[in-house]
Amino acid sequence: MALVHDATKLLQRLIRFNTVNPPGNERAAQEMLRSKLEGAGFECELVGATEERPNLIARLRGASEGPRLCYLGHVDTVLADPAEWSVDPWSGDLRDGYVWGRGALDMKGQVACEVAGACKLAHSGWRPQRGELLVIVTCDEEAGATYGAQWLCDNVPEKVRCDMVVNEGAGEVLDYEGRRMYTLCVGEKGVFRFKLTTHGRAGHASMPGIGDNALLRMVEVLGRLDGRQPPFDPYPAGVASLEALTGAPVEDVSSALARVRAVEPRLADQFESMMRVTIAPTMIRASDKENVIPSRCTVRVDCRVPPGMGEDHVRRRVEELLGAGDRGYTLEFSDDVVGNSSSPETELAGFLREFVHRAEPGAQLLPLVLTGFTDSHWFRKAFPGCVAYGFFPQRAMSRWDTMPLIHAPDERIAVDDLEFASRFFSELAPAILR
Ligand SMILES: [Zn+2]
Repeated sequence: MALVHDATKLLQRLIRFNTVNPPGNERAAQEMLRSKLEGAGFECELVGATEERPNLIARLRGASEGPRLCYLGHVDTVLADPAEWSVDPWSGDLRDGYVWGRGALDMKGQVACEVAGACKLAHSGWRPQRGELLVIVTCDEEAGATYGAQWLCDNVPEKVRCDMVVNEGAGEVLDYEGRRMYTLCVGEKGVFRFKLTTHGRAGHASMPGIGDNALLRMVEVLGRLDGRQPPFDPYPAGVASLEALTGAPVEDVSSALARVRAVEPRLADQFESMMRVTIAPTMIRASDKENVIPSRCTVRVDCRVPPGMGEDHVRRRVEELLGAGDRGYTLEFSDDVVGNSSSPETELAGFLREFVHRAEPGAQLLPLVLTGFTDSHWFRKAFPGCVAYGFFPQRAMSRWDTMPLIHAPDERIAVDDLEFASRFFSELAPAILR
């Protein structure tokens, strides 16, 4: 069967397993993938913290020791409200040249292409000359990876240790000032969510004067954030990305980003967040009763931080906006995940560059640091020296076509892109494991 047919059928089957996380319930989908990979000659195991939510590890050994290349993916999805969709989100319908359904882009489509590409190789009798090809499909990516990639790297590192990872995060084409660019995710920002609290004094709400309203104090604190973000942090991976985009050395991040905004505002939105600590209040809580003046008010703040920067830096950036010392609030971090990244100049990147050149002469790679998070983080953290990229090549749909559909209604992927990406995965392993 032609590779694209195999990838398409596989994606349709994957979409029909409802793996909305929570609760995930990934087992049935993982068992289907296991039988497919086993049938092609991979050694497979399902491992996990619970019976219902295993991770799949599939391995194709080479003739001798050597590098381990991993095709990584996750099989869980975010939720979908059928009322908002024009098709059943779990139908996997093939219509107008697209496969429709929750996970088509994030990321059952990529998993289907990885597995179809790897199975084609194994069926043909190909084996790594040295090293190993791993296909790892995790559960629980969309809700923090506690049962998924983080669990694997913490609990069975010897089973998932690898030198190179290709995962989700980028790969879609975009045009910028007449240049054709394929995005390459080289890193993800860190996560330092925190809780702000203001304190007051409770009292009966029918006599406002007798209390001290913590909610009103919070309004004053949040007012200092209104429309403001911390200054840019010119860190190496971010500056390299900006230089690759603009094709010129970056002296000053603000003026370089102003030029990007004039050319392509959608990229400017991404780069402005990529180049700094970002702060976004998202949840607020005060009194539990309408007639009680709250003595405490808490706000949850989502905070994303450039790779390599830790809590001291974040605290400084927050205090520059909210004020330090006794400015009427207390701050408590609930996450302390320092972001990480891989160099864009590696043998693996060399093959990706060559692949996009062959696909479209003159096309370039555009390395990006994601503002969001992926499983690549856990592999870089667990295995120093491991090069992990997000790369799922797509060109029938550009970055501007796919981005609004991810985690949104009517998510779908072009069959032409399933063809393009499954071919990529069938060519990558022989080029690297030789
Ligand atoms: Zn994803």
